[in-house]
Amino acid sequence: MTQVKNIQDSLKPIVALCKRRGFIYPGSEIYGGFANTYSFGPYGAQLKKNIKDLWWQTFVQKRRDMVGLDGPILLHPKAWAASGHLEGFNDAMIDCKACKSRFRCDHLIEEELKQSADGLSLEEMTHLVHSKKVKCPKCGAQDFTNARNFNLMFSTHMSKTGSEGDVAYLRPETAQAIFLDFKNIIDTMRVRIPFGVAQIGKAFRNEITPGNFVFRVIEFEQMEIEYFIRGETWEKTFEDWLKSMHDWCKLIGLNKARIHEKEHPKEQLSHYSKRTVDIVYDFPFGTSELYGLAYRTDFDLSRHAEFSGQKIEYTDPETREKFVPHVIEPTFGVERTILALLCDAYDEQQLENGEMRTVLHLHPRVAPVKVGVFPLMKKDPLGPKAQAVFDMLQAHFTCEYDESGAIGKRYRRQDELGTPYCVTIDFDTIENDTVTLRDRDSMEQTRVAISELVATLSAKLI
Ligand code: ATP
Repeated sequence: MTQVKNIQDSLKPIVALCKRRGFIYPGSEIYGGFANTYSFGPYGAQLKKNIKDLWWQTFVQKRRDMVGLDGPILLHPKAWAASGHLEGFNDAMIDCKACKSRFRCDHLIEEELKQSADGLSLEEMTHLVHSKKVKCPKCGAQDFTNARNFNLMFSTHMSKTGSEGDVAYLRPETAQAIFLDFKNIIDTMRVRIPFGVAQIGKAFRNEITPGNFVFRVIEFEQMEIEYFIRGETWEKTFEDWLKSMHDWCKLIGLNKARIHEKEHPKEQLSHYSKRTVDIVYDFPFGTSELYGLAYRTDFDLSRHAEFSGQKIEYTDPETREKFVPHVIEPTFGVERTILALLCDAYDEQQLENGEMRTVLHLHPRVAPVKVGVFPLMKKDPLGPKAQAVFDMLQAHFTCEYDESGAIGKRYRRQDELGTPYCVTIDFDTIENDTVTLRDRDSMEQTRVAISELVATLSAKLI
């Protein structure tokens, strides 16, 4: 992460809008909050659903080489030994002895010394912090402990005894469930290599320093694909997936200028990876990982075969050759997608009359509400007519009916939700069966016949 600024400065208006307009609430607020947990309110839940549905449609429904899976959050504890998470899924942490604040040591070095901590050992990091007399960002003291490893998996107990042997882990990534079911999938589905398995689900990480709103949380959703291939084809498949990930960013309307690739240097690759490229996004607090693409080799399937004692192989249907497939893994975080979309979309504009309007320029594909429907006034005959138009439209699009307050206020409210179009029913509607169609971004208003409204909106909302 580079150029980290205070969340207060950079994300404050977005965080405030999310709360005010029912997108994202702080978790357990009535109990004073529960740090780094969030609740997705009605519009946030719809936005999330739109993203997940579109992802599933794009990568599962529309492809002949992909199938879906919904695996469990709790896997056999041995799975985490096999995957390397028990031993290696650690971050280096360091504590300030004076104020007891805890930091991720690599982040502390990057932020305070403005140098990369990538690839440094615990000893090297400790030495840097002590010798360069790094100050605690919270209290200013120069008195840190040694850096030490902290496993990011949440654990829980399975039985009443609560003894050591009954520990289970909440999955820190969805990927492993796919590897555990690889055998079931090839035995029950008519899949042929190359093919992929996609999954959307919750993952949990006991992050040392979470923050920046929903960028780094302890409970989040991942949309992951394990794409099984013959090892020798990995380079081309990797490039194909990199392109597909950029296509996805375009599909949801992310600003191309803010998206870049970051290649992981060889010495910093995870234990399972031969090549990793992050898709990074210019967040207001710095350029940081949005998505990741990794070539995991045959590491996972081979390790699960070893630890489970089962044969995990693929048999080529033509040559009968047996081999352990390799895997390319594109991974997408739902919360980071939402945050990037909100950062792109958020805008404050001064109108000609001097008023300010806050607007979310969300792509219609992801916008939680597609059409706002308003009677100019509540009273007859406008109310019933508007209700009839609403009934017609809501069979096709997610719509919202609003009859309270001045019409300008109602437009402003939909602007803040990112609703691309509003339809207003006025006295002319009663005369000639036309309505006003108002565009969120240009604020232009046109007259459209009710009979053509569904077709007009369908064309605009693609
Ligand atoms: P980081 O370096 O930011 O900690 P990571 O490299 O550990 O991320 P991956 O293990 O590649 O992340 O996880 C895959 C995806 O899951 C990430 O690209 C991101 O979109 C999402 N993700 C990971 N950790 C979190 C988190 N704590 N909160 C929200 N999303 C996350």
